Amino acid sequence: MKTNHIFLSLSSCVLVLLLQGCALTSHPIGKPAIGKPSSSAEMERLIDQPGPIQLETFDSADWSLPLSGPLNLKRPEAVQAGLTDRDEPIQIYVHLLKHPQRGNFLVDTGVSKKVMDDPGKEGINWLIQKVGYFDKLKLNKGTAEILQSMDGKLSGVFFTHLHFDHITGLPDIPNDVPLYIGAAESTDTSLKNMFTRGASDQLLQGKQPLQEWHFQPDPQNQFEGIMDVFEDGSVFAISVPGHTSGSVAFLIRTTRGPVLLTGDTSITRWGWEHTVEPGEFTVDNERNLKNLMSLKELVARHPQIEVRLGHQH
Ligand SMILES: [Zn+2]
Repeated sequence: MKTNHIFLSLSSCVLVLLLQGCALTSHPIGKPAIGKPSSSAEMERLIDQPGPIQLETFDSADWSLPLSGPLNLKRPEAVQAGLTDRDEPIQIYVHLLKHPQRGNFLVDTGVSKKVMDDPGKEGINWLIQKVGYFDKLKLNKGTAEILQSMDGKLSGVFFTHLHFDHITGLPDIPNDVPLYIGAAESTDTSLKNMFTRGASDQLLQGKQPLQEWHFQPDPQNQFEGIMDVFEDGSVFAISVPGHTSGSVAFLIRTTRGPVLLTGDTSITRWGWEHTVEPGEFTVDNERNLKNLMSLKELVARHPQIEVRLGHQH
């Protein structure tokens, strides 16, 4: 009886640990990110006027995943369309934005050739390689190559979130470059982080502390929060938690008009068109869907916005 009792209490301890999960990374948090809290009214007042940013999106790598990853196949729309868990071709993007005074910034990091050449050395162990379908990754343009083509130095990296396919370019990012994330992105705990935490830690090793955007409630209640990143209305970070706890989308006023980078709040074209959020690896599907709907409503109010999705054109 007594042995049983000890066994029960021990196993419930392990269960509590398992249920609590762990943070995405143990990398330190630094001072708050640049920018000031804004509002959807302020952002939407400016959206239709051309801005000062030059923006280029690179297809860093081609990849494919079972469709149940990038799309929630359990949604009625997906069931009705007869979508099954087939292999879905996707891309890994990196966006380079140039601000006339503040310099060059990346949104996410693409894929470093170093990670492709020796994933184990960069912390991507065999298990992550397997569950991350590394055998399906094909490099088009490595992060270093993209940075070499850039005019001037890199002033910072804005992350849509910290899943490994968004930080695989970190080995090519100089250690002194500031890194910006949504609040709670790196600290919220989830069971889903257990396998990837080691790799995230190693990819971030030696890099600057993560600087978080502390979003304030949007006075118009269209979004969970909006930051005016350069305090000049040229780039807005939009809080869209759901896919991860600190997911961020970006509205960028380029010289050619407004561009929305959805991040993985919407990964596939089918998902965007049919309002279905990503599936596996999403921490809160309902919240993800709600924020996807808010982004679609923004685009409906401003149809000139060009939408660039998480992993498909
Ligand atoms: Zn992704």
